[in-house]
Amino acid sequence: MSITISAVRETAPGERRVALTPDVAKKLKARQVDLVIEHDAGKAASFPDAAFKDVEVVPDARSALAKADVLLSVQPPTLEEIATLKPGTVTIGYLQPHLAPERIKALRDAKITSFAMELLPRTTRAQAMDVLSSQANIAGYKAVLIAAEASPKFFPMLTTAAGTVRPSKALIVGAGVAGLQAIATARRLGAQVEGFDVRPETKEQIQSLGAKYVELGVSAAGAGGYARELTAEERAQQQAALAEHIKGVDVIVTTAAVPGRKAPRIISADMVRGMKAGSVIVDIAAETGGNCELTEAGKSIVTDNGVTIIGPVNLAATAPIHASELYAKNLYNFLELSITKEGDLNLDWNDELIAKTCVTHAGEIKHELTKQLVEGAQP
Ligand code: NAD
Repeated sequence: MSITISAVRETAPGERRVALTPDVAKKLKARQVDLVIEHDAGKAASFPDAAFKDVEVVPDARSALAKADVLLSVQPPTLEEIATLKPGTVTIGYLQPHLAPERIKALRDAKITSFAMELLPRTTRAQAMDVLSSQANIAGYKAVLIAAEASPKFFPMLTTAAGTVRPSKALIVGAGVAGLQAIATARRLGAQVEGFDVRPETKEQIQSLGAKYVELGVSAAGAGGYARELTAEERAQQQAALAEHIKGVDVIVTTAAVPGRKAPRIISADMVRGMKAGSVIVDIAAETGGNCELTEAGKSIVTDNGVTIIGPVNLAATAPIHASELYAKNLYNFLELSITKEGDLNLDWNDELIAKTCVTHAGEIKHELTKQLVEGAQP
């Protein structure tokens, strides 16, 4: 028996990505599965219905959801969408299980097998499925373009008959996937780039991209290759070392994050007051509280001393063709683990990528932290 895989039009404000692209549809078709999309599911990402070959296009979301054995999505399914799915349906996409307990309860009670792609272990084998990386890459790139656009200066050095323009100085805070892409992008635009992180291994990565590593004397490697939260003392040390430094920069792009925590506060209001008029901060940690004290998510503000602070949200959705292509490929690579030769689905619960990414299955919450959050501590 072959399964039916569906995707519907994303309805969250500003969400232009789609979880199934024509290329991935073709790959899935070759795996003997049936495909259904809602009319215009890919339109906002510039994939018209006609680009999806051998895919059934249905007029509304309800029909696509009701037919689904597997639902691919970008944003978590809404309560209404969950109510339309058959028991036993598998959902794959972002789920943000800690943000909406009601949704997790609905998935549990509707006996949906839900997978949260942000829970995927960051192992070598999982790299091709890693939506956090593929989308952070786009966010890092876009953040620099936004900064360049907002800056009253050029990024590159220019030598003209009217005189020489010095290159902008850009500082990238945090050198994970987004930060390293931001460094590479700012370099391509011709800025003088420097960066720092609290994980010591980033020094070499920053330098290998041709940027200068800013030594702030704080090292905070945590578990699993991530950073840990800084102690109050370390934070004060980081801020003191940085305060002097940022007086000379034109552009700051902040990307620092600690898994499961609010974004670390790195740039205080006082530090912003010390910056030059015309400087720009683009804070891509805005959605999780911001790396800068003055950041407002979804807004661009200008301080009294003339510093522009931009807190963009869902940056990946602003490059929806490539973001969707990479995201859909990530989902395909994950789904491929479970598709049989006959186009049926067989979930291998002994595979840690399947087991650790699952949030609800057969009427139960499988992810321990989410279970505690939604159902309270178990005796
Ligand atoms: P992230 O989004 O969790 O954090 C972004 C960066 O902020 C990190 O580099 C972190 O060290 C840094 N940071 C945290 N607190 C800071 C502070 N106070 N000051 C400065 N910087 C701070 O990170 P990410 O981009 O998801 O990547 C984290 C790690 O995971 C990296 O080691 C990366 O190489 C690794 N990774 C592995 C895989 C894989 O093997 N599948 C895939 C992607 C990323």
